[in-house]
Amino acid sequence: MKKGHDELVFLPLGGSGEIGMNFNAYGYGPEHDRKWIVVDCGVMFGRETATPGVDVVMPDIGYLAEHRDNVLGIVATHAHEDHIGAIAPLWPLLKCPVYATPFTARIVEGKLEEAGLSRKVKLREVPVGGRLTLGPFALDFISITHSILEPNLLAIRTPLGIVAHTGDWKLDPDPLLGEKTDEAALARLGDEGVLAVVCDSTNALNPGASGSEADVRDNLIALVGTLKRRVAIAAFASNVARLDSAARAAKASGRRLCLVGRSMHKMIEAARATGYLRDLPPLASEEDAAELPPHKVLYLVTGSQGEPRAALARIAEDNHPGVFLESGDTVVFSSRIIPGNEIGIFALMNKLAGRGIEVITADAHDVHVSGHPAQDELRQMYQWLRPQIAIPVHGELRHMTGHARLAKSLQVKQAIVPRNGQMFRLAPGRAELIDEVPAGHIHLDGRVLVAERAGLAKTRRGLGFAGVIAITLVLDAKGRSIAPPAIVMEGVPEPVEAAVRATVEDHIARAGKRASPDELAETVRRAARRAANEVWGKKPVTRVTVVEV
Ligand SMILES: [Zn+2]
Ligand SMILES: [Zn+2]
Repeated sequence: MKKGHDELVFLPLGGSGEIGMNFNAYGYGPEHDRKWIVVDCGVMFGRETATPGVDVVMPDIGYLAEHRDNVLGIVATHAHEDHIGAIAPLWPLLKCPVYATPFTARIVEGKLEEAGLSRKVKLREVPVGGRLTLGPFALDFISITHSILEPNLLAIRTPLGIVAHTGDWKLDPDPLLGEKTDEAALARLGDEGVLAVVCDSTNALNPGASGSEADVRDNLIALVGTLKRRVAIAAFASNVARLDSAARAAKASGRRLCLVGRSMHKMIEAARATGYLRDLPPLASEEDAAELPPHKVLYLVTGSQGEPRAALARIAEDNHPGVFLESGDTVVFSSRIIPGNEIGIFALMNKLAGRGIEVITADAHDVHVSGHPAQDELRQMYQWLRPQIAIPVHGELRHMTGHARLAKSLQVKQAIVPRNGQMFRLAPGRAELIDEVPAGHIHLDGRVLVAERAGLAKTRRGLGFAGVIAITLVLDAKGRSIAPPAIVMEGVPEPVEAAVRATVEDHIARAGKRASPDELAETVRRAARRAANEVWGKKPVTRVTVVEV
């Protein structure tokens, strides 16, 4: 490729090979002056086992931050956390405008406000079905269906071809709220000629189709009709259609609906502010609901993933300030188990069961459908768009490779399974890998952003696994030990403490004068870990400090 040629490139920095944290960049222009747009900027949630003490994990976007003068904007496809959750925390690295349709913009605005950024960030609304031009990119927002209001497929037009970026989607013939899939627009796009499709892989291994919110509504109405006492439905707050279905189930069974959880209230506020849920019956406050007879109340609660601080966990512990459930009441999980959350969810279900509260899951009563395309839906999308290149994203590698196989079976000429940090040239010429840039994770650790490569989470895993030993050596100017070493151990069993103490004291007594304080510290550190390992089979995190007097 001659230098100075215009190229269209694709660079994922999050969400390829992992669930959550979607971050995709498209570049256009010659290498020395490439303009970039970012599609989605999301988070994933930390896991206590992998990243102890870390609530939120974000993509490391250092590469784009270096090019931020050429980053024209962040475009959000929809308002799920794994697509917008990192906009506020990472915006200071990019300092570019943010674009979204009204409902998504409203949710993003709330997050910017919380972060104290709302006056700095140019947040621009794009109408549903609208168009946006950013430098060499012209984007059509095409309505599609998912599990939230206003999901968009972006048709990204460039002088070198059209990329269809699907965002998260499914084909729901009856999404209950919001737009239906604009099938005509998708077919027209295919007729125009699509260079590449960058597409959701979440459910690419599932045969069939994902099902409709309308079926969930009917099943919820039927199920709640059979229940005699208090009912709490646990669902994702962002699924506003599900909230509407809960309201209908309440009405059909003569109950009043009460929303519980901060994010439920935020979502409903955003939905109402942007013109949805106009005919929702009045909601009961937690105080009102507590006064109602048990068969007259339906709660819709957050915390279906077992999140310890969410409403349902506190209700299960019987320490929620406003909601009380008791033996004979029912909790309906209108949600799926997000992989990795099994332990927390089952612990929560066991707590409820232990208090005599009946637990009903989606497996038993079809009270949940996924928001992501199964294989029949993917086939339909490829039939509409007929791209030259398929680029599966949004999934683990097994989902993405399965998706690539499916695309190949549908006569797509080229299928690329990208990893975060891999830069692909999509045009001109055959698509190929042209660069690999640094990629990784940033942790929101308490209130501080920390690169994963700094190793804090790894150290804390070590601390959790085998505790800590802190040793202080006191040396004179000639490097001789002039006081017994001070040794503090936490999380270490007694026989190990004794062995470590004996080894360190022995080591100091025998240490030659020639070693420098740093060398002595390092040999003592190793000896202490070795001694622990011999007795215990584990090596604690060990730190040695030298005090010279
Ligand atoms: Zn997603
Ligand atoms: Zn989504």
